[in-house]
Amino acid sequence: MDATHPLNNTVNPAPAKLGEALSVSGVIHAYAGAPAVDDVSFEVPAGGVAAILGPSGCGKSTMLRIISGLVVPSAGKIRLGGRDVTGVPARDRRIGMVFQNYALFPHMTVRENVGYGLSGLSRAEKREAVDKLLALVQLEKFADRLPRQMSGGQQQRVAVARALAPRPTLLLLDEPFAALDRALRADMQFEFLRLQRELGITTILVTHDQEEAQAVADSLIVMNVGKVEQMGSPSELYDRPKTLFVNNFVGQASVLSAQVVAESDSASTLRLATGNDIHLPRRSGFMRGANVVLVVRPEHVVLHASPVAGSLPARRMMAVPQGPLRLHDLVLADGTLLKATERRAPGTPEAPAADDVHITFALDHCRLYPAP
Ligand code: ADP
Repeated sequence: MDATHPLNNTVNPAPAKLGEALSVSGVIHAYAGAPAVDDVSFEVPAGGVAAILGPSGCGKSTMLRIISGLVVPSAGKIRLGGRDVTGVPARDRRIGMVFQNYALFPHMTVRENVGYGLSGLSRAEKREAVDKLLALVQLEKFADRLPRQMSGGQQQRVAVARALAPRPTLLLLDEPFAALDRALRADMQFEFLRLQRELGITTILVTHDQEEAQAVADSLIVMNVGKVEQMGSPSELYDRPKTLFVNNFVGQASVLSAQVVAESDSASTLRLATGNDIHLPRRSGFMRGANVVLVVRPEHVVLHASPVAGSLPARRMMAVPQGPLRLHDLVLADGTLLKATERRAPGTPEAPAADDVHITFALDHCRLYPAP
């Protein structure tokens, strides 16, 4: 038992780490016959942070409501710390929730908002518990303010403190930083990570913003039309996406249509829609004649001023510096758009506005999928 733990109070000392493992297995849910979540399974270890990521309408919020107990799934199980909580009402699950619009009570002070969910404590105990929570989110000085007297970021921190007050074993965040401007969002993400490490609360974050997911979560769950496309660490999903959808959704990528024109045990040849052939030093894994797409991340495009072996001509439409990188928008002969990045330094000359260049690919890193 850690007496200095920020959420400790004299009635119910909290364990050093609050989080419990979450297990979602075979969850299905349909609204009026249309499946919103379709056989979803994943595990998040105690103290882990997972982000559910995907385009609008893919089922993220429904999944979160099912975990919270606000929606009972048509099939499947939700387990928390090994206990089956599928039929347990939301209020009995000890889950903290934070939503995009904060949902603070506008007529209550910060102190009252944070203390709202604390029951069974004396006035003095409640005051002490709220003081500790406000210290945790660095808002001690704002205890007597009303929500409207605070900035968006501060209100969001109040919402986090309020969600943490009942000492939840699981924290659910639904697009929690979406309403904040970019700089503040980055601060809040950093702050949230500090809190999360300190408390060890298992956290599920729902977002459509892949940069946010990568910044905050140790595992990403990418959903598409109600199903999990892939789950893994941010770098696993970026480096080894299993589907075209994940490849396009996590990080940037350009998609080149091609046909497999030769395939042997150790090499293959792709004919791009531009007419150029690309020789891969490996099997493509597809039959000869198959229509495929070659997916290329911007950092895997290499630019050359004049033709080199195996290069393709491209027209550079734009080049803009972005910190240590220069971003290029290129067009291939068939009209395919391609993004490229290269490193730049203070002495790097500016690129001409529009000109002809030649490109090759870091083929080891480019991925192939069946044509959609
Ligand atoms: P996301 O959070 O990824 O945007 P949702 O879980 O909100 O996705 O929605 C998944 C699908 O379920 C969508 O097709 C949406 O229109 C539908 N849906 C969500 N909530 C309801 C509801 N209460 N009633 C009927 N359909 C819903």
